[in-house]
Amino acid sequence: MVLKYESSPIKEWRGYKGKPFLISGPCSAETEEQVMETARQLAHLDAISIFRAGIWKPRTRPNSFEGIGSEGLKWLRRVKQETGLLVATEVANEKHVYEALKYGVDLLWIGARTSVNPFTVQEISDALNGVDVMVLVKNPINPDLELWIGAIERIARAGITRIGAIHRGFSAYEKTVYRNQPNWQLPIELRRRIPDIPIICDPSHIAGARQYLHEISQKAMDLNFDGLMIESHIDPSKALSDAAQQLTPNDLKELLSRLIYRNANPSDPKLLDVLGELRQQIDVFDDHLLDLLEKRMQVAETIGRYKKENNITILQSTRWEEIINKVLSRGKAKSLSVEFVDTIFKAIHQESINHQMKIMNNGATKPEKNK
Ligand code: PEP
Ligand code: MN
Repeated sequence: MVLKYESSPIKEWRGYKGKPFLISGPCSAETEEQVMETARQLAHLDAISIFRAGIWKPRTRPNSFEGIGSEGLKWLRRVKQETGLLVATEVANEKHVYEALKYGVDLLWIGARTSVNPFTVQEISDALNGVDVMVLVKNPINPDLELWIGAIERIARAGITRIGAIHRGFSAYEKTVYRNQPNWQLPIELRRRIPDIPIICDPSHIAGARQYLHEISQKAMDLNFDGLMIESHIDPSKALSDAAQQLTPNDLKELLSRLIYRNANPSDPKLLDVLGELRQQIDVFDDHLLDLLEKRMQVAETIGRYKKENNITILQSTRWEEIINKVLSRGKAKSLSVEFVDTIFKAIHQESINHQMKIMNNGATKPEKNK
């Protein structure tokens, strides 16, 4: 089902200075001096539309810096007065909403640990009823598109018309190079389900480390996201939260200068834009397919080790019969031709056997170390 919203296009949002809609500022407001200096430097970047700073910080473990609290809202008000930048902060309950609105915060975002909880999102929505403020809803920490859409719907019901989504990646048990898995297919699907909602990418919380910020930002631009939220701190190494992923306003300037915006293409930009975006989506799915195949082969290797230890043959034909019959009928239900599914799965099966053979025949019972 495709959902329609009475949302204003991002071009009409307050503070909008062009695509990408840029939000930047420290993970947390720490001191008045740190907030003001970061804001002054960011204001010189011209392209920044909104200054962000976390006032109340949801931390994984207690006894870490949990935010400066309401006192920091005065600093945000000062940022607005002195730099002209609009300001944003995270709200996680109704008290946060009332406090932030009292100090004139222009944009509120709902964090990933809050958007998972329909009770809390509803409480925030009730507090926002009839208020004219911009709201961005981060994806929930788990890759659950319905939960994300549900949170957006609850906020939209409060009558908020400038409402957008933030893609900040998803938590995964397996540790990978990024702090959070981008799972790009989810925001792509969100765009399909709610075509007119702006989507902002948050490369900082996906990356978890400065060195990946550029590649993630570029990918978001190639997928035609509407904006970026990137954490910036005057002295990242001293940051009280998310030190590894923040960058100085100067480094942010350099990162932004290296981004390529496909929209600017002169020859029939509309056509190129649509095609380019669709091709990017294909690339995302191809990466996903390769990741899945890699995982499947790793399981096949584990099975190989088990068979070796227990002296079982590699091929059990009944099991293979079962697999092929199942995938052929499931494939048919997905409008995939029998020939296609048959070819693909025979190739996958052969590759699995090759992986198992390698295990069986090289004498190793433990996974081989990468050479
Ligand atoms: C943040 O933006 O600093 C933050 C806490 O983000 P998230 O909710 O994405 O973890
Ligand atoms: Mn952060």
